[in-house]
Amino acid sequence: MTEPRVVVIGAGVAGISTAYVLQQQGFTDWVVLEKGSDVGGVWYWNHYPGLTCDVPSQIYQFAFAPKPDWERVWATGPQIQRYHRDVVDELGLADRIRCDTEVLAAEFDDADGTWTLTLSTGETMVADFVVCATGVLENPAIPDIDGLADFAGPVVHTARWDDSLVTDGRKIAVIGTGSTGVQVVSALQPGAAGITHFVRSPQWVLWAPMGLPQVGAVSALFRRAPGLLDRVHRGLLWGSGILADIVTTPSWRRRAVQAYARLSLRAQAPARLREDLTPDYEPLCKRQVVSGSYYRAIRARNASLVTERITGVEPGGVRTADGRLHEADVLVLATGFRAHDYMRPMEVTGREGIKLDDAWADGPRAYRMTAVPGFPNLFTVLGPNSPTGSISLQFSAELSAKYIAQWLTRFRDGELATVEVTEEATDAFNRQVAEAMVPTVWNTGCNSWYFTEGGTIDLWPFDRKTMVRMLSRPEDADFHVRVPAR
Ligand SMILES: Cc1cc2nc3c(=O)[nH]c(=O)nc-3n(C[C@H](O)[C@H](O)[C@H](O)COP(=O)(O)OP(=O)(O)OC[C@H]3O[C@@H](n4cnc5c(N)ncnc54)[C@H](O)[C@@H]3O)c2cc1C
Repeated sequence: MTEPRVVVIGAGVAGISTAYVLQQQGFTDWVVLEKGSDVGGVWYWNHYPGLTCDVPSQIYQFAFAPKPDWERVWATGPQIQRYHRDVVDELGLADRIRCDTEVLAAEFDDADGTWTLTLSTGETMVADFVVCATGVLENPAIPDIDGLADFAGPVVHTARWDDSLVTDGRKIAVIGTGSTGVQVVSALQPGAAGITHFVRSPQWVLWAPMGLPQVGAVSALFRRAPGLLDRVHRGLLWGSGILADIVTTPSWRRRAVQAYARLSLRAQAPARLREDLTPDYEPLCKRQVVSGSYYRAIRARNASLVTERITGVEPGGVRTADGRLHEADVLVLATGFRAHDYMRPMEVTGREGIKLDDAWADGPRAYRMTAVPGFPNLFTVLGPNSPTGSISLQFSAELSAKYIAQWLTRFRDGELATVEVTEEATDAFNRQVAEAMVPTVWNTGCNSWYFTEGGTIDLWPFDRKTMVRMLSRPEDADFHVRVPAR
């Protein structure tokens, strides 16, 4: 038996799931390296006002760490972050996680089949396997707007919010219309002297009562009856299967949800803004925005919606193409992430010196979300194609980690030294993805962060059953396996 040395990079949902699986399966030589000062991933990095989970918390949790007593049906960001911290403490994973440790580079050694990692602490570390759980929404995208650096007041990206920033009583400009833009406008509007939301492309906003508390009696019942809690979680996972069907296959159900999105707009948006707030693409085509308060916020007297193109930022505000200067004291960039910079800026060098930047020049490309040709003994959890828009990410992460653990077990049993997915299998998988993408709602004519530089859609277009089937057992024919020298 040779215990594999495993380094997991990242301590968000994917990294915590991987850590749990490694612990459960009795692996002993592993560590999680996290560049942030705490676990939680996006829930650590993002703490802007209004951050709320857009799916019910009872499904946005690990199956192995059910929480009976969420304060709200749609938990807030700080509640989710606390949950992640509690999970790693209660499951005894905390000692294995090294925060404030960024992996700057990872290089594969062809001769001995190991990875050498260069860390921000000045150390190097050698591993038999690297598991990248580095997140898709990780690197904030800063828009290239003329004069941004000249703005006289604070400029803050939502993913790096400054908690000391005072927004009450000030004029706030918010650029960006995804879930984050909608959440931050809803949260800041009541206290602002004025809030201007710059909307280049409006989004469909599904109305939901996001502030709904989880009733105390329900929490008490879940605490007393963990079996019931488990059944509810399973029920929600099953229910999300219907959602998967809605986004991947045209049907009356898709039309019903789209009709609800249109109804939310008609019923909630002020008539004078309805045209400006109406997207020019099908509902569900982009990551769906859910909110119970945005339309109320944007119709308030101190709020304005600007659809005119931004031409520049000046010390006193934001200038638009019609020549108007929209005065602002604070500029909020809700401009999202460079979603296809997955694993970067880490410098990853695989077999025979292949650079990840070159391998992925047209965008991330992997086999079944988990393996990349040219990079032996390196796996990804919640990597390319993992955003689903419907299937629980915690479910996908745990499933992927268990799949990867099967390779680690074979290493431990002396059956392999290195494993690398073939180009052919990766191409075949990506052809299947492209074919399955055709009838999806993401392919109905909108522009979103789902599209890679190469024009493919970086999402999971199959249902949950297919995910389980693809990741239940490794198919040896899809891999080059090198056995250990005797
Ligand atoms: C603001 C926001 C709100 C969201 N809300 C929802 C929601 O409501 N529902 C939903 O389903 N999804 C939501 N998501 C999507 C979210 O990305 C996933 O749900 C999930 O949290 C992703 O987990 P992850 O572990 O894959 O990535 P992350 O949470 O991004 O974790 C990756 C971790 O890896 C670390 N890391 C990266 N590179 C290195 C390195 N080189 N060295 C060391 N550490 C490194 C990062 O610091 C980070 O902590 C949201 C995303 C954002 C940004």
